Amino acid sequence: MKKLKVDDLGRIVIPKPFRKELNLENESPVVVTLENNSVVIRPEKAVCKCCGIFVECDRDFPLCQNCVEKIKKAYT
Ligand SMILES: [Zn+2]
Repeated sequence: MKKLKVDDLGRIVIPKPFRKELNLENESPVVVTLENNSVVIRPEKAVCKCCGIFVECDRDFPLCQNCVEKIKKAYT
């Protein structure tokens, strides 16, 4: 956990180790959402947790459509 301060323009700096972990470089697009009183910043592109390909990321646990279908089939 890192404690940060919002600057006078409402900005924070994402800590370098976090940027490295998420492969965020200069100009990397991110998606910002408000969830349960928290600001969540996710990379727009994330790696599918199942097969490792890049996917649009709109959830905590990114999965590609292929893997979603496979999982659905396995449980129906
Ligand atoms: Zn996948």
